[in-house]
Amino acid sequence: MPRCWAFSCCVPGQVGRGLWWPSDWPYLAQVFLASLPLDLSLYTMHRLSHRHGFLWRLHSIHHSSRRLYWLNGERRHPLHAALMAGPGLVVLGVLGTPAEVVGGWITILAAHLAFQHANFDYRVGPLCYLLGVAELHRWHHRERFEDAQVNFGEFWLVWDHCFGTFYQPCSPLGVVGIEGDPVPHGYGEQLVYPFRAGA
Ligand SMILES: [Zn+2]
Repeated sequence: MPRCWAFSCCVPGQVGRGLWWPSDWPYLAQVFLASLPLDLSLYTMHRLSHRHGFLWRLHSIHHSSRRLYWLNGERRHPLHAALMAGPGLVVLGVLGTPAEVVGGWITILAAHLAFQHANFDYRVGPLCYLLGVAELHRWHHRERFEDAQVNFGEFWLVWDHCFGTFYQPCSPLGVVGIEGDPVPHGYGEQLVYPFRAGA
């Protein structure tokens, strides 16, 4: 049977064996192990997207919503989504992570992103220090750019603790979105917005 080099398994239902991947671990343990390089990639690219003009224009589409709701988690420019996950997926590919493991984590992440941006008041107790839930992530969506440089973590907040961007809110949330509402509202216009001169 032929084998893919990246993600190491081409046979449905069979978990492949990457050279540096602990494929003998229980499936869920492998899934959460895979979450670490992928989530660090998302955090790093997210931070860079708040610093560099072109990346910010790509990312600003995600921030442009004037209210938070569960679909906002997937409101992203497709190129930006690829850039965010790309480095982490390359690392997992080099490690020989089975496709089923990566797919399992992406499924969990997709559900998490819906809850992360959901417009309802749920609490997870002390776990809010570990997980990027709505209770803390919505502070990342404050309207003033200077106020939005906190709680970048997609799933894990451990990166925010490590790099000093964790924020425990002690003030009212205020308005979400982007000051001046610069991003167009139509989907087609949003796709070309980052590439427009003067955007
Ligand atoms: Zn952001």
